[in-house]
Amino acid sequence: MVAPVDADLAVVGAGCAGLSLALALATARWPGRRPRIAVIEPRERYVRDRTWCFWPVEPQPFTAAITHRWSRWEVRVPGRSIIRGSSRLPYVHVAADAFYTQALSRLREAGVELHLGRAASSIVDEGSRVTITTDGGAMRARLAFDSRPPHPGPSAAPATGDIEVELLQHFLGWEIVVDRPRFDPGKAILMDFDVPQGDGLHFLYVLPFSRERALVEATYFTEATLPTATYEARIRDYLRRRFAVDDFTIAFRERGVIPMTTAPARPQPSPRVYNVGLRGGLAKPSTGYAFLAIQRFAQATADRLAGADLTATPPPPPAPRSALATAMDRVFLSYVHRHPERAPKLFADLFDRLPPDLLIRFLSDHASARECLRVMTSTPLAAMTREVLRSRARWLRPAST
Ligand SMILES: Cc1cc2nc3c(=O)[nH]c(=O)nc-3n(C[C@H](O)[C@H](O)[C@H](O)COP(=O)(O)OP(=O)(O)OC[C@H]3O[C@@H](n4cnc5c(N)ncnc54)[C@H](O)[C@@H]3O)c2cc1C
Repeated sequence: MVAPVDADLAVVGAGCAGLSLALALATARWPGRRPRIAVIEPRERYVRDRTWCFWPVEPQPFTAAITHRWSRWEVRVPGRSIIRGSSRLPYVHVAADAFYTQALSRLREAGVELHLGRAASSIVDEGSRVTITTDGGAMRARLAFDSRPPHPGPSAAPATGDIEVELLQHFLGWEIVVDRPRFDPGKAILMDFDVPQGDGLHFLYVLPFSRERALVEATYFTEATLPTATYEARIRDYLRRRFAVDDFTIAFRERGVIPMTTAPARPQPSPRVYNVGLRGGLAKPSTGYAFLAIQRFAQATADRLAGADLTATPPPPPAPRSALATAMDRVFLSYVHRHPERAPKLFADLFDRLPPDLLIRFLSDHASARECLRVMTSTPLAAMTREVLRSRARWLRPAST
């Protein structure tokens, strides 16, 4: 007899990955009865809590939530400014509040059960079903998708090993409003490395929404987070030095810690549980970008499950990214980790030497092998070749060493 369940598919955590996956599952073409989908999320109310940007190299279901597009962008290192752009592939911004509103309303329309205000404490695979324990009681499902954050909080760095690189991308940003035109709303500053590097690899990121309003973020690629006051001081110094801005109002704050790791992802901790989102390794190791990979993964998972018998052994989840993209990430992240002082020049040279659309495809895991080779030839070849060899050596070592 098939064990009874409360829902066929349970999505635990309804942030970017959980909502995107629930929507892909709810709108997939199921050959027979549409499965009952339940979503479990501790938040009762959603507010704007982050800023998602990416280059739209592939279709994704939240185009209506795009609120700004920049067709030019800048990367700066001391003494050099590189300005590039693409009208075909602008850098786009999705505001989290627009994303959450659209996702939730489409899920309600599709009949997905939303259990808001409930946190899950455990997810146990019992063989033919999964039991999810929440503060509002237990829920049994055929399959569970776990998108709970992988680390408990912004100061928790993952353990570092001698085989894998484990860095954090950590940042704090303010959306500020000034009373005089100071910003160029046509151009995003992706990385300004012309800032103090004493606390590790660091850049400022600026998204100008108008002449008077911009999101300004102090970002680091290092092993541990820093005190709040450090990021804030960096933003204030930068605003003063770069834009002659001393007085401003803060309209929105965001803070983030994204793992940047070469450690293999663990997409399926047990046959009936898939890890998704950052927990499933969907943040690109060398950049921390995850939004598009999350959409791609959601669609691929829904396509894979729509033909499957959910009572039988479920199919494995799709790989977070291709073997080629994984290998390139490993090489780049190892280089950045080993030579943080050379990383600003590496990024500047990539933006300087490569056609923008090619670099965008590379940064979005869409580059072909030939394009990856072209990217490699725009880097310090000898040092990168050493990283390739080191990476290969690491792959050949048994996991337990
Ligand atoms: C501030 C910020 C800015 C970012 N900007 C970009 C960007 O510009 N471009 C890009 O590509 N990527 C960006 N990222 C990276 C990535 O896209 C986001 O982190 C994205 O939100 C990851 O989705 P997720 O579903 O894994 O995590 P989240 O969106 O954080 O969702 C996790 C969910 O789990 C819920 N949860 C927590 N505890 C429990 C529990 N016990 N039980 C059930 N649910 C629980 C949370 O409430 C939350 O809703 C950014 C990340 C941050 C933090």
